[in-house]
Amino acid sequence: MNSSEKQTKKEAFKADYINKIEEVSGNCLEESSVLKQYQALAELVMDEITTQWAKINTQYNKHQTKQVYFFSIEFLIGRLLKSYINNIDMDEVVTESLEELGLDYAAIQEQESDPGLGNGGLGRLMACYLDSSAAMGMPANGNGIRYKYGLFEQRIINGEQVEVADNWLKNGYPFEIRKPDKSVIVKYYGSIHSENINGSLTFIHEDYEPIMAVPYDIPIKGYHNETVNSLRLWSAEPIDGFDLPTFNQGQFLYAIRQKSEAESISQILYPNDSGFDGKLLRLKQEYFFVCAGLKRIVSHYKRNNSNSVDGFGEKICIHINDTHPAMCGPELMRILMDEEGLGWNDAWKMTVSALSFTNHTVLPEALEKWPINMMNKLLPRIYMIIEEINRRFIEELDACYPNNIERNHSLSIIKDGQVHMASLSIVTSHSINGVASLHSKILREETFNGFYQVFPERFHSVTNGVSPRRFLMRSNPKLKDLLNESIGIEWEKNLFQLKKLSNYINDPVFYEKFDAIKLANKFYLADYITKHIDISVDPNSIFDIQVKRIHEYKRQLLNALHILYLYNRLKENPNLEMAPRTFIFAGKAAPGYYFAKDIIKLINAIAYMVNNDKTVQDKMKVVFLANFNVSLAEIIYPSANVSEQISTAGKEASGTSNMKFMMNGAITLGTMDGANIEISEAVGPTNIVTFGLTSDEVFHYQKYGGYHSVDVFEQDPRIQKVMHQLVDGTLGFGLNFQSIYDSLILYNDPYFVLKDFNAYSDAQNRIDQLFRNNKTWTKMSISNIAQSGMFSSDRSIADYQREIWEIK
Ligand SMILES: *Cc1c(COP(=O)(O)O)cnc(C)c1O
Repeated sequence: MNSSEKQTKKEAFKADYINKIEEVSGNCLEESSVLKQYQALAELVMDEITTQWAKINTQYNKHQTKQVYFFSIEFLIGRLLKSYINNIDMDEVVTESLEELGLDYAAIQEQESDPGLGNGGLGRLMACYLDSSAAMGMPANGNGIRYKYGLFEQRIINGEQVEVADNWLKNGYPFEIRKPDKSVIVKYYGSIHSENINGSLTFIHEDYEPIMAVPYDIPIKGYHNETVNSLRLWSAEPIDGFDLPTFNQGQFLYAIRQKSEAESISQILYPNDSGFDGKLLRLKQEYFFVCAGLKRIVSHYKRNNSNSVDGFGEKICIHINDTHPAMCGPELMRILMDEEGLGWNDAWKMTVSALSFTNHTVLPEALEKWPINMMNKLLPRIYMIIEEINRRFIEELDACYPNNIERNHSLSIIKDGQVHMASLSIVTSHSINGVASLHSKILREETFNGFYQVFPERFHSVTNGVSPRRFLMRSNPKLKDLLNESIGIEWEKNLFQLKKLSNYINDPVFYEKFDAIKLANKFYLADYITKHIDISVDPNSIFDIQVKRIHEYKRQLLNALHILYLYNRLKENPNLEMAPRTFIFAGKAAPGYYFAKDIIKLINAIAYMVNNDKTVQDKMKVVFLANFNVSLAEIIYPSANVSEQISTAGKEASGTSNMKFMMNGAITLGTMDGANIEISEAVGPTNIVTFGLTSDEVFHYQKYGGYHSVDVFEQDPRIQKVMHQLVDGTLGFGLNFQSIYDSLILYNDPYFVLKDFNAYSDAQNRIDQLFRNNKTWTKMSISNIAQSGMFSSDRSIADYQREIWEIK
């Protein structure tokens, strides 16, 4: 775009924008509120995108392109306005135009609500995959639930987490289009009768409770290309609004109850990350988006395929993100048999060919198992089909492996009175994959070893990735500019090109520019911290950051105990030589996860003590930022020096924040877990600091015993001291962390916090040494960015295309 073209575009934009403001607010520009300025900009951008959307959908339909659908109970998409503007290449025009109009672009963007329709990594992964698919020009759509309330807003009051409802729709949402004409009826409860109609057995569902599923579509715009895909989120509504006859008979309270019961299905996201909550409402949610989504996909397919489902299994990929959408298998069977008239065998072939499954965790408490009674009552036809899938599966196994009856029966989808959703997903999909090498290996060798013996060809591995557009180009624009001026712009389309940075690995001029950018980003976060929690931190200190869901396996507790120990060292030796540190935490705990909430309370208590102790002021600070979400994440990653990835080995399936930090030049301080292992391989041992037990060692202790935390406690006076401080009032009058003490000592420290304490403390010393040699540190940072190409979600999507969806 040359300057006169740009001028023309700016003039056109300004004229359209002023009109739009008048249209949405009934005010002229000067009188309009920031909210209206935001809404007008959002609508203008939507106008542009919807025009392209209509065009590309026509093309897809004409060419019968192979289509992927991600089924996921969470999509943590983050704010969209700025992404849209970047992706349609309007950022310069918008930035300059708004400035010329005297408007505050940053404040306008702040008006957008951040849809918290996910808990953490699993939901964010879907958003990155949608972003990458669109950037690569591949037709891939999302299918999920339009929760009226997303993940709760976290406030920290008196050092503790308080949950507040997240009313993200309160000002409306400009990026969705409601499509009531595409509504679907979802049927719950009732009974199934079989009838012989024209010689074939037909199943009829009667006396069911119908709920209306209404889709809202959000466009997913590709980066600098023509592609616009869709994220379809379903909202639950009563059929025909109120039950009018009841309403008119004066029983309006009853009518309202019916309405709110229907709406309850899409009312709120369950706030558990990696934990199974076997509530009836959750099961309703799971069937809700599966049923509605598949119904629309099948009818759309038929419309473009002479009203037939022939070839569905080759043209459509139904990708199930963890087991929440596992009913895709039986539901697709139901549609193909009961509605399309296929026989079992044809329907089965089509279903297995269409479905693929990504497993996200090996934590036993996360594995979904639904009581037979609950499922049979709520979804009688689905349960019948699952029983039949299982009967045939076990029958086949017994025929193939007659000497292995015990193993065969251990693989049963239905056992101990429960339906095992992971088993259902594996049996109904042609592919199952883990999300990092180690995780996939654990699936093969431990968690699903029995299935691996039967279906070795179904097992794959695709290491997770993150969107470089959101987590580098957009959130770290200064770094983006430096990269562009140094190595050209090819890396924007192929992140492996960041390898070219190796030409600058010893370039002092580049170092200086790089360090200045990191420092500026740290100043930005320091400002945010001052503004939000009134703590002043030193941007020249090490920003040592752990931000993620609060969970015992992620071991924020290890970090916290080490901070307490470092504080003790400083109190004993105020002249201790060390680079000043700022420890930064953020993350939400599930509301019913009391231990995780105690960890938040502990971190805040340590922070209060440390930050108010004048004797350590210029050496250390501790910060807990409230309400971690995608918007806050985007501010935090670019400012990090140290990326804390310290999970108990074998428990973190992949992690993705490790990748986002790395892309922004932070050094990983981590255990050999999840994708940390692949990061370590990519950057080499000199550019990462690893420590602690390996997953094999953890497994060994868990299987055969041999770890006694009390022994570690007795041998290590540093640990004794911090453990006593948890319960002796050091951390504040009346503050007592007995539950944490007991977990570590009485219950033998199930996450090996004390076992790894010494190794972690050594690793932290190494970080301190490395950081104090500024050149070494900068070199490590740049090496990390240079090797981050393989952690782009573009690479992940390419892997899925090649190995799982078989798209050329
Ligand atoms: C990336 C991301 C996560 C995942 O972080 P992990 O450290 O991999 O668990 C969670 N929440 C948000 C908002 C994210 O952006």
